Amino acid sequence: MSTATTEPTAVSRTAASAANAAEIDYRQLASDVLAGHRVTAEQALAILDSPDQDLLAVLDAAFRVRRAHFGLSVQLYFLMNAKSGLCPEDCNYCSQSKVSEAPVPKYNILQRDQLMAAAELAAARQAKTYCLVISARGPNEREMKAVEEIVPEIKAKYGLDICACLGLLTAEQAQRLKACGVDRVNHNLNTSEEYYAKICTTHTHADRVQTLHHVRDAGLEVCSGGIIGMGETHQDVVAMAIQLRELAAESIPVNFLNSIDGTPLQNQSELTPQDCLRTLAMFRLVNPTSELRISGGRELHLRTLQPLGLYAANSLFVGDYLTTSGQPPEQDYQMIRDLGFEVTGGVTLPTEAAPAGHDRAAKNGQQPMPVASMTSESSGGCGGNGACGSGGQCGGGQ
Ligand code: SF4
Repeated sequence: MSTATTEPTAVSRTAASAANAAEIDYRQLASDVLAGHRVTAEQALAILDSPDQDLLAVLDAAFRVRRAHFGLSVQLYFLMNAKSGLCPEDCNYCSQSKVSEAPVPKYNILQRDQLMAAAELAAARQAKTYCLVISARGPNEREMKAVEEIVPEIKAKYGLDICACLGLLTAEQAQRLKACGVDRVNHNLNTSEEYYAKICTTHTHADRVQTLHHVRDAGLEVCSGGIIGMGETHQDVVAMAIQLRELAAESIPVNFLNSIDGTPLQNQSELTPQDCLRTLAMFRLVNPTSELRISGGRELHLRTLQPLGLYAANSLFVGDYLTTSGQPPEQDYQMIRDLGFEVTGGVTLPTEAAPAGHDRAAKNGQQPMPVASMTSESSGGCGGNGACGSGGQCGGGQ
């Protein structure tokens, strides 16, 4: 396989698949990436098209790169669905879109006490970052003010990093988020520019890219990823991965579509666990230094192969997603321990710290209210797969 450092060009699937998959030397590719090579579109496509018998070699290459940049660390993120439903956009994967018939709770941005309670739970679950998500095309003034008020308080009390997922932003809104202490903004590309109109018509891919430029210009970190399994081609996935490299996204959440009944994509998604692992490995090799997070659809699509995903990715959401349930946090901690990896970047609670691996509510045998009612199974969040108009990071908004 050529390791020329030329920029990728568009290639057809037929041109890349069989021949490239047969030729590729994954260990050499990993060495080249570690030496500074930028994976080409052809190489990325060959990874996605590679046969199942190559899977361990593909993961080995991804793991070499992951280990070089992130060691054995795993960073945990916590999703807070701060506003649910009521969205005028038509994202096909989303349970809160105007074209969805899925029953989701509808509520406006939550009160201070609820947002602080969620922050406490995030800290107790060893999360590094609290992801504040609203369902919206973009934040209104009331929502902006609520975020500006709560972010300094959360940071002062719990020391959590804050990622805001609020939808399309103006340059001024991005600057205000930076000024109030937000560390990072999530706004997912979701898919390729070419495929975008197939999943949403009320805003464009270019609108999303513009928001990411505003985020970058404001001095905020960029979190942007996508949703896999919406009917796109491998070329679309590769195009997105390479565009995220060009945007220098510090954080890339990869969601696997969790088809929600009542949404236009309710019957979509035919991913296998192997497909998901190849996708994660490809993202790791194309974006070697970006934080790579296995997001919505992890439990559904990777199933018993979930642990293998962490050989490519270095981050997970702990707990529920926005509109679907995640596995219990203790299972995630056990998986990480069993791999010989370790959670890093979590904060220490100021008082009455919960024992590692248990949130305080669970310790007391309670439902983790009010968060349980505000997150996944019951709530909406960007409903979709981490797509929230906000860019839906949201672990897949699922
Ligand atoms: S993904 Fe976000 S913007 Fe799109 S319909 Fe859902 S809540 Fe609205």
